[in-house]
Amino acid sequence: MRQVEEFEKSVKISLRESEMQKRTALVSQKQLSSIELAFKQFENLELARNRAAYLKWKVNENLDKYLIDFESALVRKGGKILWADDAATALKEIEQILKRKNAKKIIKSKSLIAEEIELNKFLKSKSYQIIESDIGDYIVDQFGEKSFHPQFSAMHKSVGEVNEMLNKKISSSLDIQIDELNMDLRMNLRDNFFLADVGISEANFLIAESGNVCITENEGNASLCSTFAKTHIVIAGIDSILPLLNDIDLFFPLLATYQSGQKIATYNSIIGPKTPDEDDGPDEFIVVLIDNGRSNILAAQDQRSALSCIQCGACHHVCPVFKNIGGPAYNTAHTGPIGKVTEPLAKGLKDFQHLSFASTNCGKCKDICPVKIDIPNHLNQNKRDAIQLGLGNTGDKLTWFAWKQAMSSRKNLNSSEKFKNFTFKKLLKSTWGDEREFPKVVVKSFNQLWREKFGEQKPDKQVPFTNKSFKTY
Ligand code: SF4
Repeated sequence: MRQVEEFEKSVKISLRESEMQKRTALVSQKQLSSIELAFKQFENLELARNRAAYLKWKVNENLDKYLIDFESALVRKGGKILWADDAATALKEIEQILKRKNAKKIIKSKSLIAEEIELNKFLKSKSYQIIESDIGDYIVDQFGEKSFHPQFSAMHKSVGEVNEMLNKKISSSLDIQIDELNMDLRMNLRDNFFLADVGISEANFLIAESGNVCITENEGNASLCSTFAKTHIVIAGIDSILPLLNDIDLFFPLLATYQSGQKIATYNSIIGPKTPDEDDGPDEFIVVLIDNGRSNILAAQDQRSALSCIQCGACHHVCPVFKNIGGPAYNTAHTGPIGKVTEPLAKGLKDFQHLSFASTNCGKCKDICPVKIDIPNHLNQNKRDAIQLGLGNTGDKLTWFAWKQAMSSRKNLNSSEKFKNFTFKKLLKSTWGDEREFPKVVVKSFNQLWREKFGEQKPDKQVPFTNKSFKTY
């Protein structure tokens, strides 16, 4: 099935899931209230956002240099770096490390990029034991589902559903509260941190100056993943770079604010290869740097700033489309407003342009974005590029051609409203969808109303609604 057909099918199903929509709206509302409260920690939030946007712009414009700087600094520290053009290369490199290490058990922390390259699916297909240590990701994994939101993977699940699943899985009590559930899960996972052969985590930021990997989290599982296993693999997109270690001063609190409404996340780690005077930490520290379409976003000069995303997930909470359909409906790893910009660029407008069109262009995502990405504008630029490349939908083209013909004829415009309603429905009903009531045209056209009121009298030349005035306006 084509991507667009799959998307339309999933959207139709999601739109009927009113319980999911209610839960999503509730969690989003709570998150937005916490985010607003956390704004207070900034003396000048606008300045902080402008600085963050500028720094990410600088990185995007000089990415080649910063990536090489990061590689040199990491290698100087004793780390290794592997470059992966695409998901297949990244998976092959990771498999080779696991084979070389004779690894069987792998523990992993939350990682959007792991979802992007479908790491869990790949490792399971090769019979590795992969343990998901992030609670949200563990829950959706057990349900056989994809993450619902970049930061709150299981936000659409009710406590009852999770209770029931965990009761079957780890024999936890059926009527315990969320905190106790978390504790049960942690106890169940704990030993795995010590027993795993390899730990895999993502990086929130990579520091070009020092070769460090920065991870910010609330559960502490990423720290544990990167501490006990003898080999640690960091998987990161080439867009995770920040120039200086000092930049973390700004980006850690900014991310915490927009991600979870906190002043700073509970655990903030700046890690790297073990130094000779350190007792703890992995013997081998490898960073797999993944492109997987990011160069395409970089190459789209108008939309380049989409690479500045720090994956806080705040734009999802304000998006009317996301709140109604949820993350899995997109059928891509990156969802919500920003996913609708980046996925079509990274994977190709031909197959994914429909995501850019699935927008209300309300602009709320732009207002909330901590790094000021102009998402609505980038969506329009994606649509423009798709049309310019001749990728417009044939059905749409025919519809608009028929519309133009109909609108250019006075006879058609003045035809009965029954005829017009019938024709519009025929032309547009499939794109309008069954869930929304189709609007009805007014009984009389403007032309008919004018004639009734003024007879054959021509409009005054001063009346602004002439072609010429339209142009001026
Ligand atoms: S686009 Fe902005 S608001 Fe949305 S996830 Fe990225 S950084 Fe956050």
